[in-house]
Amino acid sequence: MAVDPIDHRKNLVHQAYSTSRQSREQLSGHRGRVIWFTGLSGSGKSTIANALEIALHAQGKRTYILDGDNVRQGLSKDLGFTDADRVENIRRVAEVAKLMMDAGLIVMTAFISPFRAEREMARQLIGEHNFVEVFVDTPLGLCEIRDPKGLYKKARSGKLLQMTGIDSPYEAPSNPDVILSTADHTVEALVTKLLADIGPLTT
Ligand code: ADP
Repeated sequence: MAVDPIDHRKNLVHQAYSTSRQSREQLSGHRGRVIWFTGLSGSGKSTIANALEIALHAQGKRTYILDGDNVRQGLSKDLGFTDADRVENIRRVAEVAKLMMDAGLIVMTAFISPFRAEREMARQLIGEHNFVEVFVDTPLGLCEIRDPKGLYKKARSGKLLQMTGIDSPYEAPSNPDVILSTADHTVEALVTKLLADIGPLTT
């Protein structure tokens, strides 16, 4: 007789372990956080996350970057770019980011994450006080000029479908924790602002 695997979920019990998030954070010397970058492709999420990580390391803080392209080559390699697949991709990223935060890390996520509802889902899952939503605010026209991966060119010529900002929507955050305007600030200035907004995260 076939058994529905979903049924097994009823038998799952949360297993408690003796070493807590707090003790792992004490070992790290700082709290865990999730810094959630959102913005169009080419807006500057990876560039700013990279520069922020360098600055945090210089302060002796333990970090990890979850990057859109990297995750899609591993954890989410079975997913495409339909709305449903984008939501599932973000759900996985949010779960992984939460685990890494629990391990005592400052986690940066660099995903377009175009839908308000999925970012809200991530915020709820990770916890309001652990979650910093950073809107990398770059006009579509400037992203298209930068076009670091040549994706806009492909999308405009019809060689790439479901491109965010072209034929797939981007819902800008209505109330982000931090707004970074890359059109008129250098990466260094934006990192300085971010560090000030995040605070020292001391335990
Ligand atoms: P995303 O990760 O959002 O797709 P990337 O970080 O890969 O975007 O690409 C952003 C591009 O814009 C990079 O080539 C970067 O050097 C350039 N850029 C120019 N000015 C800025 C700025 N002030 N902040 C971030 N990126 C910038």
